[in-house]
Amino acid sequence: MIKLLLMFLAGFILYSLVSGVMRPAKRRPSNRTPDGETMVEDPHCGTYVPQSDAFKATIAGKQLYFCSKKCLKEYKKAQNP
Ligand SMILES: [Zn+2]
Repeated sequence: MIKLLLMFLAGFILYSLVSGVMRPAKRRPSNRTPDGETMVEDPHCGTYVPQSDAFKATIAGKQLYFCSKKCLKEYKKAQNP
């Protein structure tokens, strides 16, 4: 009876070890796309876009990224009315 219990325990420990090794690999930071690309925030509308798809602009010495040309234009307009 004790032997059976020990076998069960050993099996359980082995199982938790195996599933513990399998699990952590999938975690990644939330601001990255599945390809590992950096997401940037559009300061005008707050949308996150992949850096390579974003419209880049340097405004007041800062590199900014926009989801569309429209947002870029409207943001620039809001900066210098
Ligand atoms: Zn936008």
